[in-house]
Amino acid sequence: MLINADLHLHSRYSMACSDKMELPVMAEEAAKKGIDLVATGDCTHPLWLKAIKEAAIDDQTIVIGKTSFIITTEIEDSNRVHHLLLLPSISKAQELAERLEPYGNLKADGRPTVRLNGCEIARIAKDVDAMIGPCHAFTPWTALYAYHDSLESCYGDMTDYVSFLELGLSADSDYADRIEELHRLTFLSNSDAHSPWANKLAREFNQINVPEISFQGLRKAILRQNGYGVTCNAGFFPQEGKYNESACIKCFTHYTLDECQAAGWKCRACGGVIKKGVKDRINELANFDVPKHPPHRPPYIHLMPLSEIIMTALGHASINTKGVQKAWNSLMEKYGNELNVLLNANTNDMDFLDSRILNAILAFREGKLIIRPGGGGQYGQIEIPRETRRTEKDPQKKSQRSLFDF
Ligand SMILES: [Zn+2]
Ligand SMILES: [Zn+2]
Repeated sequence: MLINADLHLHSRYSMACSDKMELPVMAEEAAKKGIDLVATGDCTHPLWLKAIKEAAIDDQTIVIGKTSFIITTEIEDSNRVHHLLLLPSISKAQELAERLEPYGNLKADGRPTVRLNGCEIARIAKDVDAMIGPCHAFTPWTALYAYHDSLESCYGDMTDYVSFLELGLSADSDYADRIEELHRLTFLSNSDAHSPWANKLAREFNQINVPEISFQGLRKAILRQNGYGVTCNAGFFPQEGKYNESACIKCFTHYTLDECQAAGWKCRACGGVIKKGVKDRINELANFDVPKHPPHRPPYIHLMPLSEIIMTALGHASINTKGVQKAWNSLMEKYGNELNVLLNANTNDMDFLDSRILNAILAFREGKLIIRPGGGGQYGQIEIPRETRRTEKDPQKKSQRSLFDF
């Protein structure tokens, strides 16, 4: 069966997270977006694990409404590298917490920092039967390639146990497949959402062919056994991410790599620190000038959060205005999920929409939306070109569309 899954989220117990990150809200918002399986996140936090236990049907099954949960956590190691762990059960999450307890304060943050390196965390992951891989692997801090030049430098003799890599918002498969050592890994595109709302939860997700919705089913897919696997990664254009280009973290002035080096990574405009963008980091690490996809690599579909497209079209300042919410809800009720609206649905049936929204959807399909690349911690900005008109009857981006048939 094909499912849509977002495998990296945080609970209300992680730093800088919305207190609306509660299981029932996450379940409801996921269902609205057509997502079948979401991560619990933060499973070593005692209060969150308690909430997971209370919601669970049994040790391995957590289902609320139509939404299933998989037990996960993100752990920061002693080099500040973030690792994503997927776990088979609540009892294994408990075991993981017991193993990590001596090395960090698990109560302080849903995403704990522990005094262990990547190799040691991977060994513990294996002991508790968890899957592990690096999170947002190319971002200029708290990520594998921020501190290491190879998987092995981080995971040592546990490297072979690493089975996936999370691309992060500022990269896609084309970026990552320029690095040869990543070809054997399954790529995951996850939201890393800190709030449950439509522009965050499942802003990136994976379409996965699994035998069943369970940890074991997911494991078969990530390890690509018996013909199962990730069949599509869906997520941001890399330029939408916060760290796509090298830029100052204070005033967000963008720089080329040469300019950064000449300036000693100090902003000429304000003296702030310049953070190396994912684009430049990939260029440094790349074995190939152009992406070389291994045969198992699924397509990557580029998306923009529909609520942000609507917000931009209407000229509103937030996605939580009545106008944005009303349009978004009516589209979800009619078409079930954002992909359907953005790629599949016949726009001739969308006459109920404000024409500005309809034009923006058409502009997206025609590849005419402009993205000003993100950098230095500032997201890329979507712009709708002024001359957008509804020219063709129902233009469809065939290449992207044929991949998804909901
Ligand atoms: Zn992280
Ligand atoms: Zn600056």
